[in-house]
Amino acid sequence: MARPSIVVLTGAGISKESGLDTFRDKDGLWSKVRIEDVATPEAFERDPVRVHDFYNARRRGLRNSNVQPNAAHRALAELEQRWPGEVLLVTQNIDDLHERAGSRNLVHMHGELLKTRCVHCGALDADLGEISVELACTSCREAGRLRPHVVWFGEMPLEMDRIYEALAGCGLFISIGTSGNVYPAAGFVQEVRYRPGTRTVELNLEPSEGATVFEERHYGPATEIVPTYVSQLLAGAR
Ligand SMILES: [Zn+2]
Repeated sequence: MARPSIVVLTGAGISKESGLDTFRDKDGLWSKVRIEDVATPEAFERDPVRVHDFYNARRRGLRNSNVQPNAAHRALAELEQRWPGEVLLVTQNIDDLHERAGSRNLVHMHGELLKTRCVHCGALDADLGEISVELACTSCREAGRLRPHVVWFGEMPLEMDRIYEALAGCGLFISIGTSGNVYPAAGFVQEVRYRPGTRTVELNLEPSEGATVFEERHYGPATEIVPTYVSQLLAGAR
């Protein structure tokens, strides 16, 4: 029997237990660094050295050997491998923990920390190490035209057409570790909630701002509730 397509949305809550600094929590990065100094196109124009320093430090944090995919990342990779239908993972996280856990059908709607993008030719480079304002693009060879491949405040998230197409065809939408107040991701559940036959599920540490619109909700640490939910799903118990 055909099983429904699944769209999974993940946010900072799934990476937190992997030891990464979060951006939006009460004690997260945005409580220590001003967004307008490091995470807007204007900041990069004004002071690219400072912006590169900020993202270089984030990259070093991600490469720290203590930072590893956790049981929740692994459960979602297993879901993609074993589910007899389509599974698209849409993450708001810029870390690479989903890939390291084995997920392949994946959209990074807010970009990827380890990648740089050339503003001259558009080429993406994976993990060039420390990025400086002098560094040259490996494709067009222009120096000083690289920027972090992350979506800054005031910029459009990536691959939205692919995401909305998947939402339009999914029978199950699962939101994991996301606060429910960052748009457009917070609006995805509204796209599917009134469609007959589409189930909506929230898995989070605590009820998100939009919790009441989800049909099914489970609360607790991601490393506990995500593996439990996924194994029940794969066993046909949900
Ligand atoms: Zn280039």
